[in-house]
Amino acid sequence: MEKTALKVALVALTLVSLGCSLDGASGIGRVRNEKDLLAAFASGLKIAPVSLHYATSAQLTRLDKAGMDIWGVGRDEKKNKLAYGTMTPSQLKVAQEMGLSVNYLPDVKLENTVDSRYHDYQETLAEMKGFAQKYPQIARLVDIGDSWEKTQKKADRDIWALRIGKGGNSSLDQKPSVLFLGEHHAREIASSEFVLMLAKHLVESYEKDSEVNNAIEGRDIWLVPMVNPDGLEVAFKGSDWRKNTNTSYGGGPIGNGPSGGGVDINRNYGFSWDNSGGSTLPSDPIFRGPKVFSEPETIAIRDLVLRRKPIFLMSYHSYSNLILWPWGYTSEPPKDKRLPAIGKKLAALSGYEAEQSCELYVHGGILNDWAYGELNLLPFTTEIGGPEDGFDPPYSRMDAFWKENLPGAMYLLKIADNPDQVLSTR
Ligand SMILES: [Zn+2]
Repeated sequence: MEKTALKVALVALTLVSLGCSLDGASGIGRVRNEKDLLAAFASGLKIAPVSLHYATSAQLTRLDKAGMDIWGVGRDEKKNKLAYGTMTPSQLKVAQEMGLSVNYLPDVKLENTVDSRYHDYQETLAEMKGFAQKYPQIARLVDIGDSWEKTQKKADRDIWALRIGKGGNSSLDQKPSVLFLGEHHAREIASSEFVLMLAKHLVESYEKDSEVNNAIEGRDIWLVPMVNPDGLEVAFKGSDWRKNTNTSYGGGPIGNGPSGGGVDINRNYGFSWDNSGGSTLPSDPIFRGPKVFSEPETIAIRDLVLRRKPIFLMSYHSYSNLILWPWGYTSEPPKDKRLPAIGKKLAALSGYEAEQSCELYVHGGILNDWAYGELNLLPFTTEIGGPEDGFDPPYSRMDAFWKENLPGAMYLLKIADNPDQVLSTR
């Protein structure tokens, strides 16, 4: 039995023996009301796992700006929107001012239990090295930059890419390119795992699967499973960590709850960085950094994108069962009609919902707005899994995530030579 499942089963057993019943989704446990939350705060709890019903992205945007660590969104049995995350007493006041009712989730842990079958930094790198060694005709390992800790000589972690495609570098440079990214955010371990699985699938299915053959022979495929390698190491220790580990701007020690130093790498890109989304407070979960591209991780991705100008970028995050496209910083729809058209196609393939990024909440300084706004590329985000998965789903859930998300990845590879076709073949 998986650890999380065991945990839930034990909680269920305890509750049943106490004459209670589980009234939330299986991974969430008990759902208590706001009175119980206030009582918990009154008895000294400083930060609480919560869910809340909301109606508009403006409400979530306001909570995000108040420093609430928003984990993800889902829907209740009546299909009403629910957001999940943590709240402090002052953030609860902001929710109350907007008339939102907040549920307390006493069984949800603020630490994660990482199933040992997930690949940590060294294990992911070893797999990537193995692919490049075993399949040198189609796969090469590329170091695209240092992590922040490496720049400080605190650790030896690089940001690694696998470049997959048939032919030498100069021949690949001529082919349509697609970039897959995982783990901008430390704790979103299903996202790095998915990108690693995709790399494995591509190299191992070559000459066995015609769809994969077409991709490897006709495309220049880049996969970066770990955009935030320092953060991944913190997350693997069980910390509910989101940002990188750069504490040089203040914000306090990291790895102890959602606050502490570190920069949100996906609020640090150079587009609409200073007027929407992103926090100026170093301890906030969405601290944007002191200037655009202040972080070595953001610089590495920027330089790869500038060098290769991929037709598509797909950045995997977790969780919310969502496909997102630009803009994130404004509710104005993008001029490029291929973005919503392809986004909806990806949603149909995955079974996820699809929306413009800002419909979740307004956020600036994100990769996708920069890639579209500055370079006119076609970037998407996939939020893998749902609230019951959290950030530490048992590894067995990767099977479902794989089946949900492989078709979309292969679809992007397939249409990368002519993305316009989505407008004529809907
Ligand atoms: Zn994320």
